[in-house]
This record gives sequence, structure tokens and C-alpha cells, in this order.
Amino acid sequence: MRSPAPALVARFQRRLLAWYARHGRDLPWRRTRVPYRVLVSEIMLQQTQVERVLPKYREFLRRWPTLRRLATASADEVRRAWYPLGYNVRPVRLHAIARESVARYHGRLPDTADGLRALPGVGRYTAGALLSFAFGRDAAVLDTNVRRVLTRVFLGPRRTARLRGDRALWALAERLVPRGRAYDFNQALMDFGATWCTPRRPRCSPCPMRSFCASSPRPAATRARG
Ligand code: SF4
Repeated sequence: MRSPAPALVARFQRRLLAWYARHGRDLPWRRTRVPYRVLVSEIMLQQTQVERVLPKYREFLRRWPTLRRLATASADEVRRAWYPLGYNVRPVRLHAIARESVARYHGRLPDTADGLRALPGVGRYTAGALLSFAFGRDAAVLDTNVRRVLTRVFLGPRRTARLRGDRALWALAERLVPRGRAYDFNQALMDFGATWCTPRRPRCSPCPMRSFCASSPRPAATRARG
């Protein structure tokens, strides 16, 4: 996959950040940079809608406000407290991360991609989210929403159908992160995919990406002028 031109990258970054300033959601995990709190939100949000996570996120942190406190609980207690979020391997992994952080990192999360990815159940996405949301690094994220936005804007349906695996999309996501703005940019990408460029009803007519989006409904002949 060819890398997008610098001017297109800059335009996408600018418009996405402007969109986020206007439409971004006010969520409790966006008011903290505490790595543990970011971790809890990221694990709860896996395959679960924001509305369902909100009350559980607050309740969980009231009960276990730190990694150390969580490590003192039993895995069974944590699994029961997770109800009704479902997908029960998540609380077990979160609990295992707490124990490992206490055993190996003095009750803190490591702040490197390798250290994070060595923790139970932490993949490339969660490591990128923690690095950018909790540790202020210029790391990329690629989840379902981000994948949809990037393929629609930069590839279009035909080139997306030819994609094999996520390697090229990770490279694209990394190329797009503006220096020093990974936090806002990644939050913006995820919100944009979740609330605007949605799977079934993308809001193409008023979309700020419409002039250059490879999947926008306007004729291809006018797209290049963006
Ligand atoms: S123009 Fe439509 S498909 Fe393209 S980014 Fe906007 S909402 Fe998504």
C-alpha cells in the first residue's frame, strides 16, 4: 500500500482534530492519565459499548482504586464484580496484570511497548492505547473503528478488499499520528469511527473528509481536487 502524500496526511490530521474539538465525547477516562484507570477503561471497552461501560467503570474503580488493591482481590471476586459486562476472560486478565505489576514493577504498569505487551492479554492495540493515553507517547492505535475509518478514507472499497492482514494498516496508523498530539488524535479517530463514520450509516454528506475520502459517495473525478 502506497503511503499517502504529506499534504493529505496533514489535511486529515487537521480536519480530524477540528472535528474532535467540536464533536468529541466527554468520557470519564478522558479526564485521567493514570495508567491503571486507562487500562481498566480500555479492557472494559473491548467489544462493549460506552454506555454499558460507564457505570461499571466508576463502580470498579471505587472498589479497587489502584493496581495494588486489585492485586489483593481474588480472581473470582473480580470476575463477579465484572457482571454484567460479559466476556469473562477480561477481568481474569486484568487481575493477572495487577498481580504481575505488583510482582515485577512495584505496582506500576511498564511504560514501554515491549513491557506492556508482555503482560497477560495486552496486544498491540492496548499497548498503543496505554502509551498514547497514559504515557504521552506518539503511539498508534488500530481497533475496529480506526480500521474502518482508515480503509474508507485512504483505500476505498476495492483496495480494502485486496488487503491481507493488518500490517499495512498499522504502518498507515503510525504514519498518521501527529507529533505530540497522539492522545487527541487517537481519541478522535476512535470517536469518529464510533459516532460518525459508522459501519452502516456513515454521515458522508456533512463529513469533513468528504472531499478526499476514497469512499465518499461523490464522483471520483472530483475527489482528487479535495
Ligand atoms: S466521507 Fe463518509 S466514508 Fe468517508 S470518512 Fe466521511 S463518513 Fe466516512
